[in-house]
Amino acid sequence: MDFPPYPSGLRLAGRRVLVVGGGTVAQRRVPQLIAVGADVHVVSPDVTPAIEGLVGSGEITWHQRPFQDADLDGAWYVIAVTDDLAVNDRVSELAEEHRVFCVRSDDGTRGTAWTPAVGRHAGVTVAVLGNREPRRSAAIRNEIVEGLREGRFVPSEHDKTPGVTLVGGGPGDPDLMSIAGHRALMEADVVVADRLAPRELLGDLPADVELIDVAKLPRGRSAQQEEINRVIVEHALAGKRVVRFKGGDNFVFGRGYEEIIACREAGVPVTVIPGLTSPIAVPAIAGIPVTHRGITHEFTVVSGHLPPGHPESLVDFDALARMRGTIVLMMAVENSAAIAQALLTGGRDAGTPVAVVCDGTMPTQRTVIATLSTLGATIATEQVLPPAIIVIGEVVRVAFPDAFPATS
Ligand code: SAH
Repeated sequence: MDFPPYPSGLRLAGRRVLVVGGGTVAQRRVPQLIAVGADVHVVSPDVTPAIEGLVGSGEITWHQRPFQDADLDGAWYVIAVTDDLAVNDRVSELAEEHRVFCVRSDDGTRGTAWTPAVGRHAGVTVAVLGNREPRRSAAIRNEIVEGLREGRFVPSEHDKTPGVTLVGGGPGDPDLMSIAGHRALMEADVVVADRLAPRELLGDLPADVELIDVAKLPRGRSAQQEEINRVIVEHALAGKRVVRFKGGDNFVFGRGYEEIIACREAGVPVTVIPGLTSPIAVPAIAGIPVTHRGITHEFTVVSGHLPPGHPESLVDFDALARMRGTIVLMMAVENSAAIAQALLTGGRDAGTPVAVVCDGTMPTQRTVIATLSTLGATIATEQVLPPAIIVIGEVVRVAFPDAFPATS
């Protein structure tokens, strides 16, 4: 009779785990062992470069030689993953003698333990052991973890900790948001969202979540920010989990740190979940690398919300013009002509390639090509509207070589 396995949660932190073999199967298992704090010893004459990297960073110990019987001494758990049946046999035979559980990759029926498909969410570990159908187990695991993330399994009130979480929503496409950010969003009691945050996700929020749309708060830059600070602090002090949901990353022209200060002053705990920031992600989505080997050793992200020479501007456009690398302009549609002129005056070449990427990751995304000397006019004739990212530099030529005359 074929009995099912007895599930158990092994607490391997600090305990010696022996992995015999250093190939791709070992490579898949080892990070999971590291993640639970195990003292991992890999025995194998060769290992994959990925495993070698873990050895180099001191996360595991590698015994660069064939398996020896004594390797089992002191081990709490053994994984036999060589491509040599005889070696795996010897390892599992010895493990049996030592009464140590042993996983076998080549033939599960000959091992004494099986590796489940594992997922984790908010302190819950999901382990699925199918009847040696790894794909099915992984699919079931995915479903359950997804369900946990979406809060399908009644979030219990006792494990909620009030406070504020700054969540970076990425450039717009909900798929480009982090798993941690998505989780925080779905577990929130109150969500304070900006116009550029991935708004599609707001429709997935549980019905009882209070959604505060910043666009509807009082106008004026500082009044609005003060109101946001007040709202997030007030709800957190009332015991709610508050998510401050923004486009891109909250610390990149997102006033995120002002919110942190406000929370600190009020004694409210704050967590930060970074987001993919648009000056890097939007060019990438449009096929433009912000750096390229042999082309640029720097990229500078600049806010263009004030024109050059404005008394409150903190940007040194002359210095920017003298640098040779990529310039990424944000919030610069309105001042693009003035900024291009300042860069030309400062010495940048008139033929410097420019790409304007509008509505990055949205269905209306488009890329408009110009040069530094035509940028202002192109923005006007193409009727470019915010949000747009303006990429200035030779990387644009790398992405669109046919759009520009060859350099000599
Ligand atoms: N915190 C955000 C930036 C806020 S400032 C981030 O990290 O991305 C707002 C500016 O970001 C816009 O004016 C525009 O220049 C840029 N931006 C944000 N999302 C964009 C998108 N999807 N496409 C093009 N530009 C975008």
